[in-house]
Amino acid sequence: MSLFRGGCLCGAIQFEGREAPLHTFYCHCTDCQKETGGPFATEIYVKVESMTVNGDLVSYDVIGDSGKAVTRKFCRICGCPILTEFEVEPVYICIKACSLDDASWLKPEFHLYVKSKQPWYEISDGLPQYQGDMEW
Ligand SMILES: [Zn+2]
Ligand SMILES: [Zn+2]
Repeated sequence: MSLFRGGCLCGAIQFEGREAPLHTFYCHCTDCQKETGGPFATEIYVKVESMTVNGDLVSYDVIGDSGKAVTRKFCRICGCPILTEFEVEPVYICIKACSLDDASWLKPEFHLYVKSKQPWYEISDGLPQYQGDMEW
């Protein structure tokens, strides 16, 4: 049974999730800033096994703070960033929160990589702020 659905701008990528996200958060790391073009990314953290993703994703790897690969996956046609895989923790993935068809029910919990937050973006939601990654 699907709990939520989503996809990319052009519709070539479609996904569904069968379990609620373990976490919802903001990431202010410089890679997420580049990827989204905004001051932060909003992400949900889910179990890989709870997701079905259909469509033709292309990927780009960077080496993360862990020293292991972080793989960002995009729609080949419209270029929307959809999900991120972590070699260090392959059981979980991050999905761009607002690629959900309805993201209104999500409740962001904290901010990551506040050390690279843009100075012109002020956090005023009172949520916990972490300088780097969280210890999951
Ligand atoms: Zn697309
Ligand atoms: Zn990030």
